[in-house]
Amino acid sequence: MVELSESDSRTLLRRLRDTLATEGDGQDRLNHITQIIADSMGTEVCSIYLFRDPETLELCATEGLKAEAVHHTRMRLGEGLVGRVARSGRPINSADAPSEPGFRYMPETGEEIYSSFVGVPIQRVGEKLGVLVVQSKDERSFSDDELYGLEVVAMVLAEMTELGAFTGGENSEIGATHRFPVMFRGATGQEGAAEGRVWLHEPRVVVTNPVAEDPEAEAARLEEAITELRGKIDEMLASPTLIDKDQRQVLETFKMLAASKGWKRRMLEDIAAGLSAEAAVEKEQNAARDRMRKAPDPYLRERLNDLDDLSNRLLRQLTGQGSDTGAEMPENPVLVARNIGPAELLDYDRKLKGVVLEEGSVGSHAAIVTRALSIPLVIHAGRITAEALNGDPILVDGDQGVVHLRPEESVAHAFRDKIAMQAEAQKRYASLRDQPAIDKSGQTVSLMMNAGLMADLPSLKGSGADGVGLFRTELQFLTRTKVPRRNELVQLYKRVMDAADGKRVNFRTLDIGSDKVVPYMKPQDEPNPAMGWRALRVGLDKPGILRMQLQALLRAADGRPTSIMFPFIALPEEFYAARDTLLRVRDREAQMGRPVPEELRIGAMLETPSLGFAPDSFYRDCDFISIGGNDLKQFFFAADRENERVRRRYDTLDGSFLNFLERIIARCAVSDTQLSFCGEDAGRPIESLTFAALGIRTLSMRPASIGPVKHLIRRADLGELRQVIQQARNAGQSSVRPAVTSYLAHL
Ligand code: PEP
Ligand code: MG
Repeated sequence: MVELSESDSRTLLRRLRDTLATEGDGQDRLNHITQIIADSMGTEVCSIYLFRDPETLELCATEGLKAEAVHHTRMRLGEGLVGRVARSGRPINSADAPSEPGFRYMPETGEEIYSSFVGVPIQRVGEKLGVLVVQSKDERSFSDDELYGLEVVAMVLAEMTELGAFTGGENSEIGATHRFPVMFRGATGQEGAAEGRVWLHEPRVVVTNPVAEDPEAEAARLEEAITELRGKIDEMLASPTLIDKDQRQVLETFKMLAASKGWKRRMLEDIAAGLSAEAAVEKEQNAARDRMRKAPDPYLRERLNDLDDLSNRLLRQLTGQGSDTGAEMPENPVLVARNIGPAELLDYDRKLKGVVLEEGSVGSHAAIVTRALSIPLVIHAGRITAEALNGDPILVDGDQGVVHLRPEESVAHAFRDKIAMQAEAQKRYASLRDQPAIDKSGQTVSLMMNAGLMADLPSLKGSGADGVGLFRTELQFLTRTKVPRRNELVQLYKRVMDAADGKRVNFRTLDIGSDKVVPYMKPQDEPNPAMGWRALRVGLDKPGILRMQLQALLRAADGRPTSIMFPFIALPEEFYAARDTLLRVRDREAQMGRPVPEELRIGAMLETPSLGFAPDSFYRDCDFISIGGNDLKQFFFAADRENERVRRRYDTLDGSFLNFLERIIARCAVSDTQLSFCGEDAGRPIESLTFAALGIRTLSMRPASIGPVKHLIRRADLGELRQVIQQARNAGQSSVRPAVTSYLAHL
């Protein structure tokens, strides 16, 4: 074997690149490439193995082994030395291959006469494509430089595979593994099911020029791109809108990594060996991903993750490819992203069928927006951005938290059946739209919907809701870089009230702070944000924004009946203080000659257990109380609503929680205070029927839940169900769920 100098390496890469321009099919190119490599390296054998499916490699071209073996010799992942290279993603360099553990003798190739073996993986960011092997008769081990030279060649082969250089003819099944079905088991962010095509929020950068003519010019391009990138990072760090602690930390890490000498040196070496600047960045990104997979330390994994992000940014800088590649959005787009902010998600408007994120949480803004848009969201979906390509078929099962990428036909079939069944049921429910939710014995339940966006309002008609039981006002604050102007809010609230057309809308004042950080508010470094400085606590401590919002609501109402509720009250005094603020704002508006509502209903959200024990006077003083079950439950059971490990651990229908609800129901009955329930549980049929049977006669839920809940109420007898619940509790059952489920099943 001859040593490859830098200029030999460049000549070799140039010859490889030239094969791209040659006539002929993919097989001709592969054959030619193995000849060139064997010739340049001075070895008897050069072979290329590519994946036929995620588990099987196939010999696709060879110089030196028997030609009959091509497309016949196959091995499983992990099998033989080639399979080991493919599985580990690491090269094997051996002077005496037959004595290596796992060596597999393949008589059809005539391989036994070759003693030394070097195999390097052919892979491209996160994706294994195959293995490149050179072998020679003499027993010798190859130097690190030779191994490195082969890795550079393998990088170019990977790019060529991506560009489809080897497909066609006998290779039509071979090449990029991202043609195969993959399933991701994540977690539910928002229920529902959708079928569509992948739309990457940040599409992968396509490198079309893996080999470069002029290493000096490439090195200069790389230097320039790094300098610009560093400039951008500094700019972002200096930006006055950057106050999010996590974002700052990530940028600081980027800054450190971008200045890393080792990273740049390795890329410059790759360029000297003949790669283009882009291919050099990718090669190092590959290496980082490999280390990332194996890193046992979560901190180190995070940093490698940051390096991965930084490489993507550098690639975009080099190629000039922004997030907008000019690609056309497919029909029924399903957004796939590492993470996404609420404003960006809203920018997609109503086009999306579903969203799949690698990160995210149930309580994240993205989840709030998908809920408002009624589209399924799956979070924690592995490394899907590395696997998915724009336009790939995708199924999103928000109920199970599962995603099928490029699904088998049988899976897609079953999935379509499920969607069809849901659509069928929706049709049935639509026929109930104008019917009241009355049970068999004539008791009425008022079903309202939750909303938070203008985009939600059309559902008010479509779902047959009696009104908006909860209008979350924080989205307009979360999606802007500055505090919205009062006038903007007036216009928005006015449009909401207009759309409601006389139906009641309970506007909830801002529930921000802590976990829902707005860009223009100084972040509070709180150890336990859900129990921190949030919602009305912020409103009372910084009354400027609260007053402005209340003014906007009253002006939007323009004299119409208005209903306002305050979130997250722990003590009656907080409610009284908020109510005083509202009444003062109202009086001032009146003094200024503006119309004020004659009917102003002021309510409290019951989200902390303490309010269940507030004095009777508090219940009398509230015009209405709405139970925010999402928060109430997390504090009642001390189980974080966003923590996957515990959030489903405690049953809402556990006797202890029901006892607590009954206490509130009874107290509201005594003071004649209207009571509603507006957490997610109100939209779950079994839970909602139980609440109604216990006496909560106003339920506010996602619009899509109104049909199913109404359907059940109309078939049930709430008095009978109450007895069933009572019997289960008397019998000592901890949760009444089995009893309620069985009652409903027999309707
Ligand atoms: C709740 O806590 O149940 C609620 C409705 O408010 P949010 O989900 O916005 O905290
Ligand atoms: Mg809440």
